[in-house]
Amino acid sequence: MGDTFEPHVCLGCETAGGSVTERGLPFGPLCEACWTGVQNTIDNKQALDEGATATPPPSPSTCRDCELDQDRYESGYGRWVLLEPRYAPPAYSVPVGHRWIVRADGRAVNVGDAALPRGAVCRIPHRLVCPCGARLPDDTPRALVVLRDLNRAVVARVFPHDGPPATGTG
Ligand SMILES: [Zn+2]
Ligand SMILES: [Zn+2]
Repeated sequence: MGDTFEPHVCLGCETAGGSVTERGLPFGPLCEACWTGVQNTIDNKQALDEGATATPPPSPSTCRDCELDQDRYESGYGRWVLLEPRYAPPAYSVPVGHRWIVRADGRAVNVGDAALPRGAVCRIPHRLVCPCGARLPDDTPRALVVLRDLNRAVVARVFPHDGPPATGTG
């Protein structure tokens, strides 16, 4: 029968035994290589969702769209995010999903919809107020719209010969 001691078979590559381990729902048994691939995919998705898609050091910490200098932090999962410099608004005033904090270890974390202490401030991702970004939703807080307009004015002043930045897809 052999139904009890059959080695796990990797759902990804069908390798049996070896490093194949049950990884829990919804993944099932996966070998080390496939598991690493799955985790990378998850991290990539999170990075895309959160905007943690900045280039790592030693490349400059400027936005690749508007070229303004940003504060660059490593995220909790090894990706990099550009946070808007010199701006730390009350967290409640920033839409959920765009609230970042910088941890004591220097890594930036998107706090999602976690309840924050009264009076907490947060950082915001630069892409939210990048003048080259996609059109902001109509319910975007006024402060963020103003900040984006300000960035647009700064770009026009710093790069006068380039004209207004092209509208990207953000
Ligand atoms: Zn595998
Ligand atoms: Zn930008």
